[in-house]
Amino acid sequence: MNLENEIKKLVLANAGQHGGKAHASAIISQVMGKISEARTNPKETIALIDKNVNEINKMSMKDQLIEIKKLGLSVTIKKVIRRIGLPELKNAKKGKVIMRFEPSPSGALHVGHAFVSILNSEYVKKYGGKFILRISDTNAENICEEAYKLIPKDVEWITGSKFELVIQSDRMESYYKYAKEVLEKGHAYVCTCESLKFRDLINKKTACPCRDKTPKENMADWNKMLTTYKPGDAVVRIKTDITHKNPAIRDWPAFRINDTPHPRTGKKYRVWPLMNFAVTIDDHDYGLTHIIRGKDHLTNSERQKYLYTHMGWKIPEFIHIGRINFTGLKLSTSTTRKLIDEGKYLGWDDVRLPFLQAFKKRGYKPEAFQKFVTMVGPSPADKSVSFESFMKTINSYNKALIDPIAPRYFFVPKPTKIKITGIKTSNIEAPKHPDNQKLGKRILVKTEELYISKDDAERIKKGEKVRLKYSGNIKFTTANKATQEGKELVKGIPIIQWVSTTANVPVKLILPDGKKLIGFSETALKDITDCVVQFERVGFARVVKEGNDIVAYLLHK
Ligand SMILES: [Zn+2]
Repeated sequence: MNLENEIKKLVLANAGQHGGKAHASAIISQVMGKISEARTNPKETIALIDKNVNEINKMSMKDQLIEIKKLGLSVTIKKVIRRIGLPELKNAKKGKVIMRFEPSPSGALHVGHAFVSILNSEYVKKYGGKFILRISDTNAENICEEAYKLIPKDVEWITGSKFELVIQSDRMESYYKYAKEVLEKGHAYVCTCESLKFRDLINKKTACPCRDKTPKENMADWNKMLTTYKPGDAVVRIKTDITHKNPAIRDWPAFRINDTPHPRTGKKYRVWPLMNFAVTIDDHDYGLTHIIRGKDHLTNSERQKYLYTHMGWKIPEFIHIGRINFTGLKLSTSTTRKLIDEGKYLGWDDVRLPFLQAFKKRGYKPEAFQKFVTMVGPSPADKSVSFESFMKTINSYNKALIDPIAPRYFFVPKPTKIKITGIKTSNIEAPKHPDNQKLGKRILVKTEELYISKDDAERIKKGEKVRLKYSGNIKFTTANKATQEGKELVKGIPIIQWVSTTANVPVKLILPDGKKLIGFSETALKDITDCVVQFERVGFARVVKEGNDIVAYLLHK
């Protein structure tokens, strides 16, 4: 397939629908959604789309029509104008879609969580309905207490959505109510077999003796689970098909005994629902309509369908998606937590970490991640993406969002002093943004002695002419002395940023690898409390006040 030709077709079709002017954003979504090879290098694809949109939008509608005929598009036009943004969900009703994101409370959320949480919340935004954040904490053994506070904040930031918070350990009474119901109806039993013995039987498609117990006997054993049985003595099993071709489906466990005190409920409960039971009950009670989960949960979906059927409940739409595997990235919440405790990282927001707090700290817009997710969509294929190229895509989306609104300032890293003979102190008015007048002006103080960056100072040769941005030209007579050389623009000479040695503020620039770069910026930076700016020739950064210091976190170029 010729990618450019496919793009051209979509651009022409879109232009045809919009009075001859194609909308790049709509085409990006279509191309990414429709053409798998377009997703391998999103940046290149977007560049290709932009190029074609520019070319085709310049054409007259008549010429566009000629082009459409040339490509034989009359039929394709109707077909290709299919979707903008996420593909439709089966049986989704406007205003009635209920979806959820369900993390475990093992720590803050990382970039891997971003995808699933955004996918769910974007669908709720698309149709209207309710977004639920459900914290899955029925296993007391891997709980980090601060996660209960961190996760809602992370989800709120990355999805930009309101949600209903549900914590599973608050719902124990409901799980117990349904456990009794399913036992009383004879759809489940308390199994006291040794686990190895049970596995042996079930592998032979043979029921264990516990399966024939009466509801009354099961209720008595359930009460023993709550009181006298020891962990491992008994589990509740949901009856399925013991001849099911997949042994993992056969009579799956729904409750177990665990005496580990729970951080939120202490020792109040000792019989805990296992994932498949708790999830089914919650999904039903909260009216979930669509459930997006990884393909690795296909077996779980099959297990859960039995419980839905036993209870006489409607089965929601299950959508199984592929995994995104970030190559070159180690993602482990518990390992990271340990390293933070050991002081190897400053916290979840350490800029070196791929955790959402770190992205937030550096000034990323969550919309950049949302755009990525909308483009990739709920694809069933597993994907391997290098973390580096993923970040390049995110950075390009983020740049498109912040470039038009980020005020620009000078920042001189590793400052080196130069002296320009014969100039008087003066104030120079410069725009905060050349294309966005609304951002206003800034005042640059020009003095006889200035700082330029060490890199520039080392690069500039004796006798070379350089333009000080927004000011005049200078000529270096020695390594750190220069003379004035007029104000007119001279083609081809380097343009560099500069700061007065007397009117400036020190800035600590934190690089993405955690290293610090000390330098000076304009005095205007003193007025900033929290803002994403562009340091000219350095990159975009989030500037904040930390105590008396001005600290900037570098985003990207
Ligand atoms: Zn048994």
